[in-house]
Amino acid sequence: MGPRGTGGRAGRAGAPAPGWTCLLPLLLCTALRSLRASPGSEVNLLDSRTVMGDLGWIAYPKNGWEEIGEVDENYAPIHTYQVCKVMEQNQNNWLLTSWISNEGASRIFIELKFTLRDCNSLPGGLGTCKETFNMYYFESDDEDGRNIKENQYIKIDTIAADESFTELDLGDRVMKLNTEVRDVGPLTKKGFYLAFQDVGACIALVSVRVYYKKCPSVIRNLARFPDTITGADSSQLLEVSGVCINHSVTEEAPKMHCSAEGEWLVPIGKCLCKAGYEEKNNTCQVCRPGFFKASPHSPSCSKCPPHSYTLDEASTSCLCEEHYFRKESDPPTMACTTPSPVSSVKKGKITKNSISLSWQEPDRPNGIILEYEIKYFEKDQETSYTIIKSKETAITADGLKPGAAYVFQIRARTAAGYGGFSRRFEFETSPVLAASSDQSQIPIIVVSVTVGVILLAVVIGFLLSGSCCDHGCGWASSLRAVAYPSLTWRCGYSKAKQDPEEEKMHFHNGHIKLPGVRTYIDPHTYEDPNQAVHEFAKEIEASCITIERVIGAGEFGEVCSGRLKLQGKREFPVAIKTLKVGYTEKQRRDFLGEASIMGQFDHPNIIHLEGVVTKSKPVMIVTEYMENGSLDTFLKKNDGQFTVIQLVGMLRGIASGMKYLSDMGYVHRDLAARNILINSNLVCKVSDFGLSRVLEDDPEAAYTTRGGKIPIRWTAPEAIAFRKFTSASDVWSYGIVMWEVMSYGERPYWEMTNQDVIKAVEEGYRLPSPMDCPAALYQLMLDCWQKDRNSRPKFDEIVSMLDKLIRNPSSLKTLVNASSRVSNLLVEHSPVGSGAYRSVGEWLEAIKMGRYTEIFMENGYSSMDAVAQVTLE
Ligand code: AMP
Repeated sequence: MGPRGTGGRAGRAGAPAPGWTCLLPLLLCTALRSLRASPGSEVNLLDSRTVMGDLGWIAYPKNGWEEIGEVDENYAPIHTYQVCKVMEQNQNNWLLTSWISNEGASRIFIELKFTLRDCNSLPGGLGTCKETFNMYYFESDDEDGRNIKENQYIKIDTIAADESFTELDLGDRVMKLNTEVRDVGPLTKKGFYLAFQDVGACIALVSVRVYYKKCPSVIRNLARFPDTITGADSSQLLEVSGVCINHSVTEEAPKMHCSAEGEWLVPIGKCLCKAGYEEKNNTCQVCRPGFFKASPHSPSCSKCPPHSYTLDEASTSCLCEEHYFRKESDPPTMACTTPSPVSSVKKGKITKNSISLSWQEPDRPNGIILEYEIKYFEKDQETSYTIIKSKETAITADGLKPGAAYVFQIRARTAAGYGGFSRRFEFETSPVLAASSDQSQIPIIVVSVTVGVILLAVVIGFLLSGSCCDHGCGWASSLRAVAYPSLTWRCGYSKAKQDPEEEKMHFHNGHIKLPGVRTYIDPHTYEDPNQAVHEFAKEIEASCITIERVIGAGEFGEVCSGRLKLQGKREFPVAIKTLKVGYTEKQRRDFLGEASIMGQFDHPNIIHLEGVVTKSKPVMIVTEYMENGSLDTFLKKNDGQFTVIQLVGMLRGIASGMKYLSDMGYVHRDLAARNILINSNLVCKVSDFGLSRVLEDDPEAAYTTRGGKIPIRWTAPEAIAFRKFTSASDVWSYGIVMWEVMSYGERPYWEMTNQDVIKAVEEGYRLPSPMDCPAALYQLMLDCWQKDRNSRPKFDEIVSMLDKLIRNPSSLKTLVNASSRVSNLLVEHSPVGSGAYRSVGEWLEAIKMGRYTEIFMENGYSSMDAVAQVTLE
């Protein structure tokens, strides 16, 4: 590649172009502005203004360019060269710089500051006077290349002035200084010379600055990225691997991309502070004595559990105090306990779904027994177990599989802690009997009895409701437990008990299904929503929050930006959602429900919850602040302003967040660009986890024939038709988000009605490719919109695919063929092609756009051939 012009107009070279300025996120922009005032990502190879002694430049012929020996107010020389042979023919005056090392950079930038005399203001000089000069370079590995011939120099550009000056300007002492920047690359040798050729202009070359750009060393996601010289090509992104900082380990290989402009883009992967260390201010700090962190995935150091201690720093677990112990298989978060094992366990009544047990108090319980803990699991399935806590010496484990063996262990808790578990006791539930003529009646009887019980429960509830409205939530959740028994079973922590003395918890792979673990827990499974919110969200004191301004309107009240100052931490910007005054209890519950959900997630592409304010009014949810707000508005505001790689970076982030949610078992149901937030680094994060969101909050949601309220344009057909919401339906919505992003916030299906959208999609029509969309991305969208949900890609496949495209940007150069792209019309993906239609009217009818037939005719598109010719323009 040869030399290229950048910058240009007088007075603004060196600053970002205006369009670009407003595009850049605020912080980055401020940083860039300060960089440019004192360039941090630009490294000077030569600045003629800062050279104190002789520059060592050569001028020939001798009467051409001459150095003006001026000094500034500090008596430092100002190296200004001038030439003004405007009255003489055939001028060819050369000014050669000394050798400039490129210090390993393969693209360099040259910034010239100069004044140029307007030929019109020169009496009699018009015939010979010029208003341009030429700039050249010659590469060489050492300083021996100076005496080369003129024709060996390679021309960089002809430099013209944007502002020339006249006699009048001189009279006013106005110097119109031009600044021009050119870049040259790729350079292959160690250095180069520059040369300036005058062919008859009146020029004063005031300064020459030669520099290269680099992405400055930075720490992101706990990985250190080194100073990186930008690539040789002006559009090249260099993939740079980060190195995890001290005391951290790789979670996913950290990478970023260094752009030709010296900016870091598209961070991927991250490091985590290793066990025994926690993250603080971009560093990993050691856990103090008395605290421990067992795994890199634990968010911070925790206090040693009861009856354990550590005297060391960086502990990954705590030691049990004397006479206390912890089983090897117990997690380090477990308290140490004293032995008092339960020895005799007897089985009681056994049905096909339940086993009743009883046991005797241990002989020497070592104090008063406060409660028993009964752990049980299906034989050979120890990774998924349930714990029941009971004050009695008997329990019934229900919700079991028929004909299956279950293993039980029991331990007692005294004031000194837990005793050891008893040995394992194994019991089997009754099998389901094969249907005989008599037994064939059983399902009918069971259904009748169940319906009867539910009706009875409803009637009793009805009768009681007048007198016990305070218990409304408990009543609702008991009914829920009847209606969704499997939900209670799978979703973990449930306080819907048969026995008031009992409490039940479910574990998977050694973890209770509570915060920080990889399974999402529906806050609905909590009888008391306040308990759910405090389980998953930190309470923040209102005095720690400073509200600054209103930035949006949420469904429950205003959304503000502000600052949060937590003890021992620096103040940082946050977004604050408020609950409007006069709220109902249901509104408060739904409002805080979002925090109960958000608080369970910890991922760089999921909006991060700082905490909640519930103990004072207004009730607030505090989250990280996303400077650029919601993605759809941001893209509309900045139409056409991003590189494809930047857009793919955004999509990658969203896919990565969705992969995390689907791994957690959370189905979003309302994935759309309006529900993605974007920060100053263009990092996109999934947000909007409202409990009733899909039903009430989203203005895009419409009632379906089945009564549900659904954002039709974003929703998969099976979710619209029979409410089959899964991660695969989220993938469909993700395809629509891809389309929104690549078309800069265009409305999917434009002004088509929801009914027309449903029909068209059902008949196999899909959105056409957005303008200038890489074919690989459009293909991915079409894959997400496969009718068969099992054929759609999974989120982890989408992330891998986008990573591949980012690593290999040339794969994004093939765009969807513009002539095959019919703008604003749906594209058929069923076997029948448009060739099958005899008339435009028939075709439009088939794609549910029959009412546009007249407009087509009026505009001359009366045949299918004419329609096929419709181009972008
Ligand atoms: P929501 O109620 O979540 O839909 O928020 C309403 C609006 O407030 C959004 O469309 C955003 O413009 C703005 N907003 C919400 N959360 C944040 C945040 N964390 N950072 C910046 N703006 C936000």
